Amino acid sequence: LFITFEGGEGSGKTTHSLLLKKYLEKRGYEVLLTREPGGTILAEAVRRILLNPDSNIVPLSELFLYEAARAQHVEEFVFPALNAGKAVICDRFTDATVAYQGYGRKLNLQLIDSLNSTTSFGLTPVLTIYLDILPSEGLSRAKRAKKLNRKIYSDKIERESLQFHESVREGYLSQAEKYPERIKVVKTQETVEKTEVCIREIIDLVL
Ligand code: C5P
Ligand code: MG
Repeated sequence: LFITFEGGEGSGKTTHSLLLKKYLEKRGYEVLLTREPGGTILAEAVRRILLNPDSNIVPLSELFLYEAARAQHVEEFVFPALNAGKAVICDRFTDATVAYQGYGRKLNLQLIDSLNSTTSFGLTPVLTIYLDILPSEGLSRAKRAKKLNRKIYSDKIERESLQFHESVREGYLSQAEKYPERIKVVKTQETVEKTEVCIREIIDLVL
């Protein structure tokens, strides 16, 4: 059981992936909660490079770093967990690359699709929850979170224009239209509780 969470800044991926982990555990699953890029020494190092503003990464290098981190994460971390019978919840996966590097940074979408299928070794989520929020709302949530000193904020967010985040959202919505069976759009404008109920309804259909 491989489930991914996607969404823009402040959409609540971290919160809801944790809540889903608890829900699945109550249902008897052993759950690995992970994020991308992350989970392995290599991927965490790549994450630090990506999030460091001093790296001055050009879009194409950014793409390859995300793809490199994915290959390592899938092979070293996700496959072994799935083979051990665990449910794996991943905070961001291939759709994020389409949305951010494709729609956001305007890199070639065919190139991205091809790299995505290579670095995921063909692994496709059974279900992807796309948490949809207007970028203006999501960004102000993320900024409030920064004030509360929560980790979901990164300085990277501040350097991108609202237009960038709107393109990212457009990318996600077009992926959801392209793969309606796999990607479910959940609006997160309202409370955490309401969003959680929506997510559980979708999950219950899959289990
Ligand atoms: O998942 P999280 O919100 O922690 O992502 C950290 C940052 O990485 C975000 O600010 C997001 O804009 C950026 N990102 C990106 N391209 C991706 C995935 C994430 O630019 N493919
Ligand atoms: Mg997060």
